[in-house]
Amino acid sequence: MTPPAEGREIVWHEREGRLEVPERPIVPFIEGDGTGPDIWRATKHVLDAAVERTYGGARSFAWLEILAGEKAKGETGSWLPDATVDAIRRYRLALKGPLTTPVGGGIRSLNVALRQLLDLYACVRPVRWYPGVPSPVVHPERVDMVIFRENTEDVYAGIEWPAGSPEAKKMIDFLAGLGKTVRPDSGLGVKPISETGSRRLVRRAIAYALANGRKTVTLVHKGNIMKFTEGAFKDWGYLEARETFGDRTAVEGSEGGTPGDGRVLINDRIADSMFQQALLRPEEYAVLATTNLNGDYLSDALAAQVGGLGMAPGSNEGDGLAVFEATHGTAPKYAGQDRVNPGSLILSGVMMLRWLGWIEAADAVETALARTIAEKRVTYDLERQMEGATLLGTSEFAAAIVENLG
Ligand code: NAP
Repeated sequence: MTPPAEGREIVWHEREGRLEVPERPIVPFIEGDGTGPDIWRATKHVLDAAVERTYGGARSFAWLEILAGEKAKGETGSWLPDATVDAIRRYRLALKGPLTTPVGGGIRSLNVALRQLLDLYACVRPVRWYPGVPSPVVHPERVDMVIFRENTEDVYAGIEWPAGSPEAKKMIDFLAGLGKTVRPDSGLGVKPISETGSRRLVRRAIAYALANGRKTVTLVHKGNIMKFTEGAFKDWGYLEARETFGDRTAVEGSEGGTPGDGRVLINDRIADSMFQQALLRPEEYAVLATTNLNGDYLSDALAAQVGGLGMAPGSNEGDGLAVFEATHGTAPKYAGQDRVNPGSLILSGVMMLRWLGWIEAADAVETALARTIAEKRVTYDLERQMEGATLLGTSEFAAAIVENLG
């Protein structure tokens, strides 16, 4: 894993919370398994062309391949080599294709392992509609939200025991001592939600809203039932808004609780109600901050509302560290056929460009991708749902986007 000689490292200034991005940053990439190499090639083509055209050669990427998944297993014997994790930590980012989830072998999921090893505590999913993309709702254009999902806690933390195990029995006995009755044939899971985890996630969501001119941050929770976990997440969220962003936020229903004068409105919604709101009044919501499980459901439901997972980008972010990734899987039956939609990885690349501060290039890619779809030049997944569309392969779709970069 030798980085290109002309590349430079991105530097994270922790005290100031600021990234220093060189003109030719070293950017590690994981091409991914199955259709990963197809969509990676297409994505690289589009991102390199956009940066070249936008900055006239003054900026470019120094790509560095790092290994994970089946390719890593084949070449190194490990699904997730230490060198890969070290490279992301050192260079501060990676762009990642989908990875096969190993069956057996002690790793639950490579994605979860990466998040935990690098403390990538926020899963960020922007959800918006691109004109022309088939959607199951009447007004998909009203959806324009960014979801910040807590990544490290909740029932996802993996603290659970199967029914009948000695650990489950021990827990059930322990709970009996606290006066709580649990059926003896129960499996058990623990749902930890901490003040630290909640506040850093909400802090990130509010900082994003302020930096991007978004008017609201909604804390999504199920605190009416789970008061000391979900309810506490909401309370700590409000506390974070007040203590860290007091002069730049206003709370819904309180004095001054109307968005305006640059303040971000903070409100909260019970998770089930949020699903209704997302369908009925999506235009009233901009940034959602939520716990792990709620965020899992919401991310996919909202992606479906604007036309499906094939186009949904995402990132997993920590402090001064981020992995940008396609949100769909490896779609192995299409591997090597140059057929699938590279939109999710390309739009994750757009998120990466914004994170680097290369906003003009990000806007250029997004506009060109939207134009290509509006021209109905699309891959099979969209073509089969659109009237009169032209079917393109993965690389042809990338070429069409590059053509539309102007
Ligand atoms: P999948 O790979 O997402 O594929 C399911 C279906 O979604 C495909 O058959 C295809 O539908 C459609 N699809 C997925 N990506 C597409 C794209 N880029 N363009 C167009 N259509 C696309 O899900 P899976 O089959 O359940 O999972 C396969 C492997 O991926 C598993 O090992 C799983 O663990 C892993 N996985 C990895 C990630 C990740 O790395 N982030 C996420 C999810 C799953 P049609 O057949 O209808 O065309």
